[in-house]
Amino acid sequence: MTPDFMTLAADRIRIVLVGTQHPGNIGSAARAMKTMGLHRLVLVAPEKRPNAESEALAAGADDVLASAAFHDDLASALAGCQRVLGCTARSRRVALPELTPREAAASMAGTVPQGDVALVFGRERTGLTNEELHLCHQAVHIPANPGYSSLNLAAAVQVLAYEVRMALLDRLDAAGPTEPRDPPASHEQLEGFYAQLGETLDAIDFHKGRSPDSAMRKLRRIFNRTGLDERELRLLRGVLADAQRMARLAGTGGGK
Ligand code: SAH
Repeated sequence: MTPDFMTLAADRIRIVLVGTQHPGNIGSAARAMKTMGLHRLVLVAPEKRPNAESEALAAGADDVLASAAFHDDLASALAGCQRVLGCTARSRRVALPELTPREAAASMAGTVPQGDVALVFGRERTGLTNEELHLCHQAVHIPANPGYSSLNLAAAVQVLAYEVRMALLDRLDAAGPTEPRDPPASHEQLEGFYAQLGETLDAIDFHKGRSPDSAMRKLRRIFNRTGLDERELRLLRGVLADAQRMARLAGTGGGK
């Protein structure tokens, strides 16, 4: 997986706003999307077309606003989607499996290689209708304060867009670095390092008369946990060699 995956994902993720009442929210949603690398804004029967207020709130995201697609109804806006997730401010309103934003984002990141996915947001006053929710495969609820759970529309878009970005970045990381890693340090190389570490600790008088065994056991545990490769081990041995040199200088009075 390469950074092209991010481009592919952004091309396949639709942010669908249904029946938006305030044009300002459309602009703020465009901005929220662009900050997280998304650009496919779909507007279903907005009460008012995007206007100067939308543009002002979109800030630099006017390109997202300008390329928004318009549809008369949700079904046509979802044509060709593999997966549709409906965001609801009220938990368990419909008999749909309910996901957290994080679960939803992971599922979307897993689906984009196969096709388009849509995240659907409802009206400011009344949310999505039951018929609209029935067009969705799963519901997404931001687990907000149960006594005050309704976020501003663009704020909800921001939360979801952020989680989607994190899920996509996780996928990129999981695919691993593209350059080959250095070979892992061998048992002998590690033992050589531990021997030098022991000598260095003596040279800098780290143990101060205590037995070195317990400290060395703990240090071995720390380094063994990290899975050092050969290059990393060379770096650490370089640090130790310098520490030993400085300790020698200090011992001969040269460090004064
Ligand atoms: N009064 C409406 C709230 C709408 S807020 C209602 O009770 O449904 C506008 C849209 O933002 C919602 O339709 C939903 O898509 C999204 N949204 C707001 N708060 C949310 C939350 N806690 N979880 C998921 N989506 C939320």
